[in-house]
Amino acid sequence: MGKIVQVAVDVKHPKVKGEYSYLVPEEIINNIKIGSRVVVPFRNKKRQGFVVDFIEEEFLDEKIRGKLKSIIEVDEVALPKEMVELSKSLSEYYGAFLIDFLKLMFPAKSGIRKTVVYKVNKDFKNDLKSQNQKLIYQHLLQKDYTSIEEISKETGLAKEKVRAVLEALYKKNAVFKEYRAVNKAKIKYSLEYNAEKDKIFLSPEQENAVKIILKNLEGEKKPVLLFGVTGSGKTEVYLRIIEKVILSGKGAIFLVPEISLTPQMVDIFQNRFPGNIAILHSGLSEGEKFDEWLRIAKGEVNIVIGARSAIFAPVKNLGVIVIDEEHETSYKQSEYPFYDARIVARLRAKKENALLIFGSATPSLESIYEAKKGNFLLVKMRKRVNNKPLPVFEIIDMRQELKSGNKSIFSRRLVEELQHTISRKEQAILFLNRRGYSTFVLCKDCGFVAKCPHCDISLIYHLEDKTLRCHYCDYREATLEICPKCQGSKIGYYGSGTEKIEEEIKKLIPEIIPVRIDADVLSKKGVLLKEKLLEFKTGRANVLIGTQTITKGLDFPNVSLIGILLADVTLNIPDFRAGERTFQLITQVAGRAGRGKTNGKVIVQTFCPESFVIDSAVRYDINNFIKQELKIRREFNYPPFCHLLNITFSGKDKFYIEEFSKKTYFTLKKCLEGDVEFLGPIPALRHKIKDNFRYNLLLKSKKYMPLILAQKKLKDISLQEEKVNISWDLDPYDLL
Ligand code: ADP
Ligand code: ZN
Repeated sequence: MGKIVQVAVDVKHPKVKGEYSYLVPEEIINNIKIGSRVVVPFRNKKRQGFVVDFIEEEFLDEKIRGKLKSIIEVDEVALPKEMVELSKSLSEYYGAFLIDFLKLMFPAKSGIRKTVVYKVNKDFKNDLKSQNQKLIYQHLLQKDYTSIEEISKETGLAKEKVRAVLEALYKKNAVFKEYRAVNKAKIKYSLEYNAEKDKIFLSPEQENAVKIILKNLEGEKKPVLLFGVTGSGKTEVYLRIIEKVILSGKGAIFLVPEISLTPQMVDIFQNRFPGNIAILHSGLSEGEKFDEWLRIAKGEVNIVIGARSAIFAPVKNLGVIVIDEEHETSYKQSEYPFYDARIVARLRAKKENALLIFGSATPSLESIYEAKKGNFLLVKMRKRVNNKPLPVFEIIDMRQELKSGNKSIFSRRLVEELQHTISRKEQAILFLNRRGYSTFVLCKDCGFVAKCPHCDISLIYHLEDKTLRCHYCDYREATLEICPKCQGSKIGYYGSGTEKIEEEIKKLIPEIIPVRIDADVLSKKGVLLKEKLLEFKTGRANVLIGTQTITKGLDFPNVSLIGILLADVTLNIPDFRAGERTFQLITQVAGRAGRGKTNGKVIVQTFCPESFVIDSAVRYDINNFIKQELKIRREFNYPPFCHLLNITFSGKDKFYIEEFSKKTYFTLKKCLEGDVEFLGPIPALRHKIKDNFRYNLLLKSKKYMPLILAQKKLKDISLQEEKVNISWDLDPYDLL
């Protein structure tokens, strides 16, 4: 028997997803390696797959030994071995199918479109007899890589003829061939550096940070948490480290939360490392993606910039991974295959002996806690580079506004400041916060918000039976007419209702020319967003209205006023991270003001100014926030003090799903030993999506192991189950 390989086969149906053994035909034996994309017969159909292992015949099951089928086809381009290894670890970790991670790492969905390019082998010494072979060989000598179409055009031979001749030359080893997705003009890449950088002198804090990180790079390579206030110049620190890494012949991955929102960052990198950068973004066509991927895999470029999925870029000889704004939730993929780019990065850095750098002005509590435990090297930058003062905060107590008869969503101070800003020909940004999914209860007199006594998250108002419910544990109580804290009767139900901002502000101040960036704009990304931002940048609009998504990396020097319309909306999202998000939002938003000549001002409107979250944010006291928030997380047992596994059951038959989720709960409870806490199963907050009913079951555990076991069990269960779709999300961000 010939060589046998294990292939992860790409099939839709989860029940047959898996790895199968195949024979390697003699003709392609030299082309097959770990990571090769292949086409195999599977249940009488052709399927794609990836080679993940070589197998010795004696390890093969007796039963299948005689029945092995052969691989039909193999691509010349393969996934690097490291990426196959990484996929294996990730599929174990997340209890997912290996093939689904392999596919994430490979750029072409249905394999590579076979556009082949040829190049002569200059060492080829044999005499060529055929006229056509000579002609084409001579022709190729003048060229770099050339395609069949081009040769045909320039030699006048038919394409079919050219193809046949090239194949003959290839067999003789007279030419090399390569697969390219698109035959674009080749971009020249160089390893030059831009001398511009010499004009930037590092601030003492930057200097110090670079020194510490470089020492660590050459030594222990502990993951770094670069904790620097907004405007402290973190980018320059990343650039210096990456430069060192590149000069030592290694590669770098630089992750940003969302590439279309960080055009400035891309510019900076392209200026500094001209021609040595691949940018992976969602706007690339499949062909372009493949081109970039190939360039990276071949080591033609050393630096990759991209969002979440760029963590899978096949960078050769990886030296450093930088994750900017590491607290952003966009690093978590909240659909199958679930993964967290930060966790992947940590795993990858360790496997490939690369340095990992997390950077933020408002690090996630998970990262803070890792630093506290000594697992991350904490590097702090406390000052803005240009010594510009941080913007001044002003808190507006909306309870007082109401008492003095102002029912509008705009406080009098905010209107006043907006007027000033406009008359000074400066600009303002107004944040709507993310629109709530839900309605929470708020007392407009005293700021009281109804919360679950067990979970410390805001209770959600359910219209259908007029109850207040906890969306973690299903605690319920009757709706409130009277505030339990102040006995007042101004209890209100809040959630959305912010759509009218634009209209209202135009009525209040007619000189305002607003530009609004909402979910619609963001979902289309690319062009529309750029246009809108340009409208603001060029000053055609003077007020930008947007959600917190636009906090990332925007740099508008003319913005001197920022208004956060209702901080309570984020604060009361039914999520244990609501406080953390609100703190980050306020701090990051403030970082957008006062970047230019005038100092910035930030106005925060809230019904609850005494909340430690808002209070510590406006006093720039992140340490106080961290201290208090960690206390709550410990008390109510949330990350970073435990790990979570969120299980979602969905399907058409409501009753069946409910019963099934209960059954699964008992099964898991029986087989999981140790300290696992179960919440639910309960109807999900988004209970019905596209005619599917959804139930959630949340597991909490101090250790990872029980949750990994739970995932294995769930995988088994889901293989037996027809009517219910089960998904599980480890370290979830979206619990609704
Ligand atoms: P952060 O990412 O920490 O919020 P940035 O990296 O965006 O900060 O830097 C803030 C601003 O300071 C940018 O405009 C940047 O060009 C500038 N800057 C950074 N380092 C220096 C330096 N050493 N000298 C002068 N300006 C600097
Ligand atoms: Zn609860």
